[in-house]
This record gives sequence, C-alpha cells and structure tokens, in this order.
Amino acid sequence: MKKPIIFCDFDGTITNSDNIVSLMKRFAPKEWEQIKDNILAQNLSIREGVGQMFHLIPSSRKNDLLDYLLETTEIRQGFAEFVHYTKREGIKLYVVSGGIDFFVYPLLNPFEIPEENIFCNGSDFTNETITITWPYSCDDDCTNDCGCCKPGILKQFDGDSYRKIVIGDSITDLEAAKQADQVFARDYLAKKCKELSIPAVPFESFHDIVQKLTEEKEEYDESRTETLERTR
Ligand code: MG
Ligand code: ZN
Repeated sequence: MKKPIIFCDFDGTITNSDNIVSLMKRFAPKEWEQIKDNILAQNLSIREGVGQMFHLIPSSRKNDLLDYLLETTEIRQGFAEFVHYTKREGIKLYVVSGGIDFFVYPLLNPFEIPEENIFCNGSDFTNETITITWPYSCDDDCTNDCGCCKPGILKQFDGDSYRKIVIGDSITDLEAAKQADQVFARDYLAKKCKELSIPAVPFESFHDIVQKLTEEKEEYDESRTETLERTR
C-alpha cells in the first residue's frame, strides 16, 4: 500500500488570509496594488511580482512586519489537531508555501513541525529594502516562474511509494493539485479544480480533513479485514 504524504499550503490554507497581502496593505506604499494587478493579469510571474512588492518595504521594518503578523494572523480551525493526527498516524506532513521564511517559521512555531518539512521562500534584510530569495525555484520542467515551485517539490517524491495529498486554496496550488492522488481544496482552487474536472474534496476547517482521512482509513481497514477473512 502506498504511504499517504501530505503537502499543505500555508497562506489562505493554514492561515485564514494571505499574509503577503496583509503585509502590503499595512506597510507598502500604494504602488504594490499595481504590481498585484500585474500578477493577476499574468503580466508578471509570482516570483517577479512578490520580489518587487517586498522591495517597496525598508529592511529596517523587519520586526514591525513580524510583530504585526504575530498579532493579527488567524490560524484555520483544527490545524493543531490535524498536525497531531498526522503524527499519530505516522503520515508525513510537508508545508509548501509561497510565503516568506521570516513569517512562515514563527507562525508555525507552536505546531512543532520539523523545519526540514517546511518549504518556503527566503529573505535578506541586509539591503536598504527587503530582498526575497528563492531556494525552491522552478527547474527546467516548469515554465511558471513560481517562486516556490510546488510541482517541483512534489515531483521529488516517488509516486509509486507515496499517495500524494495536496491541500490548498489558490492558483499557486493548481499545478501540484494536478499531480496529486487526492486534493483538498477551498476558494479559488476549488473552483479551478471543478472547471478542470480534477476531483477535489471541499473543506472549511482542518477538522473536515481529519474526518475525511479517518473515514477513508476505516473503509480501507474494513475492506482489508474482509479480504483477509475471505482468503482464510
Ligand atoms: Mg494559499
Ligand atoms: Zn514552478
């Protein structure tokens, strides 16, 4: 049997809203909106756009940015229980995020997810304005200029050994969802999956996901017991 392995998005999935948008609204001059519109119109890649947006903010504000997010960011209901569930069941959990290290790690800190299980973009505060770095940018197979290349990360895990489960909410999760064996989707990703006939389970809280995974495991265990009894 293939082992389940979970790839979970961060912004808008683990957190209720998008942290980059919330930082820009609070700290960036209004030029950021033009950049955002250009990303949405696909005139700019995510990587270019996010890089440009952070260049609008002085590096000296690092602590203000983090403090603001630590105060305001809401974690989606059931996330702590979900992390416990994966540990209890021995399911590998990876966070794959287009967010930035300086806020992703601190916001995830209470949940005790090993750092090597968190993929996100990096940051450099040594210049006048904030520079974003891209340790997981696309390889030659991906022409998307993702920033943090989620399909590239999924591809590193052998599909014959793992049943890949993707949890996400937006366009940046779509290419990963196409490769997944199972998708949990909300918001834009849910709409897009429907449009493209990619089967996706809707969710609002992480309780919904735990419930679904538990049911599936019970069904599997039952069918396995039946098969064993029949062959006896
Ligand atoms: Mg997201
Ligand atoms: Zn990519």
